[in-house]
This record gives sequence, structure tokens and C-alpha cells, in this order.
Amino acid sequence: MSQILIRLLPPLFCLALALFTYWQLPWLQREQLSLLDQLPFIVCTLAAFMAVLANRSRDLGAAGTMLVSYWIINHFLQAPLGTEPAGQVFGIISLCLPALLMLFIILPDTGWRHPAFLVLVAFISIFALIVISLFQWQPLWFAKLMPGLGETGFLGLRLSTSAGLLFLIALPLGVALPLLQHEPPDTSLPGCVLFGFITMGWFELPYISAIMFSAAGLLLIVNQTHSLLNMVYRDELTQIPNRRALLRDVRSMGSHYALAMVDVDHFKKVNDNYGHDVGDQILKAVAAKLRRVAGGGKAYRFGGEEFCLLFRGRQSEQVLDFLEELRRTIADYDMTTRDKKSRPRIHKSGEKKRGASRREGNIRVTISMGVADSQDALHFEGVLKAADSAMYRAKEGGRNQIQCCY
Ligand code: GH3
Ligand code: MG
Ligand code: MG
Repeated sequence: MSQILIRLLPPLFCLALALFTYWQLPWLQREQLSLLDQLPFIVCTLAAFMAVLANRSRDLGAAGTMLVSYWIINHFLQAPLGTEPAGQVFGIISLCLPALLMLFIILPDTGWRHPAFLVLVAFISIFALIVISLFQWQPLWFAKLMPGLGETGFLGLRLSTSAGLLFLIALPLGVALPLLQHEPPDTSLPGCVLFGFITMGWFELPYISAIMFSAAGLLLIVNQTHSLLNMVYRDELTQIPNRRALLRDVRSMGSHYALAMVDVDHFKKVNDNYGHDVGDQILKAVAAKLRRVAGGGKAYRFGGEEFCLLFRGRQSEQVLDFLEELRRTIADYDMTTRDKKSRPRIHKSGEKKRGASRREGNIRVTISMGVADSQDALHFEGVLKAADSAMYRAKEGGRNQIQCCY
């Protein structure tokens, strides 16, 4: 739920900024207005550049579509829409914009270096060049071929019915498709559809295209920055924060906290016996349990099969009950593995020694924990070391237990 709210913040912020800019228009100076006119080129180019660096085809497609559409609007649509070819250009652009965005919503995010993406972009560019050249040299050709292009009136807006419907299909599709495909929710493409819809629907408002296309480019930049930060601070396998995030959070932790080092027992043997894939699934399941620890603890993957739990404003003794509950939950939890190919090889002997036991097709693992708090050392490194030493005592004491720093 909170993930969805976090994802909704950037589009809401960009929309609010766009509305604020529109409200400020009467007070803007001439130079500021001409900068506003050029802003979509700057912002969308930056968004495209970021997408190239991050190898993201979907964002690059969206940024390119917004950039070219704005260039066409800026170049051909400065005359009243009742005149030709402005009306025809408007008709074409209000169809192509949602159609292209929908295409990038549907297509997988292959990375821009993928041959299929490059072929698609080449195809779209040739098509766009032909259409732009026709507008340049034969402005009335479209009027003859497609007389319905200048049609308006969708929901009382400037849009034609087919263009309006394309926008209205693309918007929920952009929101729902990633969720259906179990991908993280994405607001970049639906955001571009929304800002495109506002532009084309209320086209006669002053500076609407400059404001809305700038907002779309800004949204692409903010969302890409957000997912890059996610990559930097989140562990790829378990999807919990990583060691870098731990060091970041500790800086703002204050001087009152408890830290637990957690290590999965005999994990090497789990890998040896059940395979690396099953090992990965077990790490994910352990991380999911750690993440739900009571007492306000935050879980991090420290590295390998080692995790950390950080409790703000607590002392070691105050978190022992929460850790004990967690230890028991994990020890009693039957982890079901999804990969049938990595079923265990025979092991009748030494099952106890392996640290992972199987009951009726499920695997169980245990964890050892060491706890220290901010009173045990002056700096975080010292607290970490103290918790680590306590964890090694838990190992020496027979594993599947918690030891405190003393
Ligand atoms: P102990 O009870 O003393 O902690 O024994 P252990 O076997 O857990 O400890 P050891 O440090 O010998 O082995 C840790 C193993 O964790 C070795 C490594 O292959 C495995 N491991 C580390 N990261 C990953 C990972 O991302 N996926 C999988 N499947 N295994 C990992
Ligand atoms: Mg271990
Ligand atoms: Mg270890």
C-alpha cells in the first residue's frame, strides 16, 4: 500500500507544479515565457539521456514520443486550429501520441540496445518523417484523404472521439499492465498519457503544451531517479534494503538504537544439498520474515546469508523478546520451494548436522543472532563489531539462538 502511495507522489507533484505554473502565467516576464516554451525540449532530452544511460527502452520511447510531439506542436500548431494544416496536424498528433505511448506500455522493457527496439524506432522515425514532410510540402493532402481528422467534441473537449478513446484506454492500461505482469507499479507512461490528454483536450489554453510536456519530462526524470536510487539502496534478490542503506540510515539514527546481526545457520550445506536456486528462495523467505519483525525493527541484507535488524530508540534488552519470537517463527517455518528441478538429492545421513531439515517436502532453516546497542560502543562500527562477536558466540553455543553483547 505504502509502495503505491510512494509511486503516486511523483505524478501528483508534477501535476501540482504544472497547475501552479499555469496559475503563475499572468505574472511571468517575456523571457520567462520564452524559456517555458523551450523547457519541454530541455526536460524531455534529459529524460531521454537518462533512459539511454540506464538502458530503459520504455522510458526512452516515452521521452522520444513527447519530444517529437512537442516539436510538431511547436512547429505546426501555432496557427488557429480552424485553419489548415493546423487542424489536420492536431488530428494526427492527438491520435499518434496516445497510440505510441500505448505501444511502449504494451511492449516489454527490453533495453534500447535490443534489435527489436531499434527496428521499431527506425520504423516510427521513417513514418514520422514522411508525415512531417507531407505536412510541410502537401499540407492539404491529409484533409482530402482523412476528412474526419479535424473532428472535435469528445466529452466536450477539443479532441476527436477516436483520439479521446485512445487516451482513455492507454491510461488504465498503463497502470494495470505492470501490476498484472507482477512488475513494480509504473506511473511514467500513464503520466505521459495524462499530460498528453490534458494538452490535447484543452489545447486552446495558453502555454498548455509547454507546461504539460515539461511536467511529463519531469515525471520521467523523477521516476527514473527514484528507480536508480532503489537499485542503489535495495538488495536485488530479497528486495529489502542493503548494507549501503544501513550505513545511510545509521547517520540519522541518533545515539539510541539496538542492532542485531542475523546469520543463517549452515547455509553453505543448504546450498550444497538443495542447490543454489533453492538457497536463493530460502534467503528471500528469511528476508520476508525479518522484514516483519515486531518492535519497529528494520531489516537489511548485510551480505551473503547475513542480515541486520536495526531498532531505533531501543536497548538490547528491549528487543530480545521480538528477536526470540522471530527466531522461533523462522525455525518453525516450512519453506516450500517452487523449483521442482532442484528437489534435494538423497540425504538420509547427517540431516541434523546440515542445519536445514525437511519435513513432508518442505525445508526448514534456523538463524543465529547477536545483539548490541549504542551503549556498547562509541561509534556504529563498534556496535556492529559487538553484535557480530555476540552472533559468533551464538554459533559457538550451538546455533539457533540469540546472544547479547557483554
Ligand atoms: P554458519 O552456520 O557457521 O554460518 O555456516 P554457513 O554455512 O552458513 O556459513 P558460510 O559462511 O560457510 O557459508 C555461507 C554460504 O552462503 C556460502 C555461500 O555460498 C552462501 N551464499 C551467500 N550468498 C548467497 C546467495 O545470494 N544465494 C545463495 N544461494 N547462497 C549464498
Ligand atoms: Mg551462516
Ligand atoms: Mg555468514
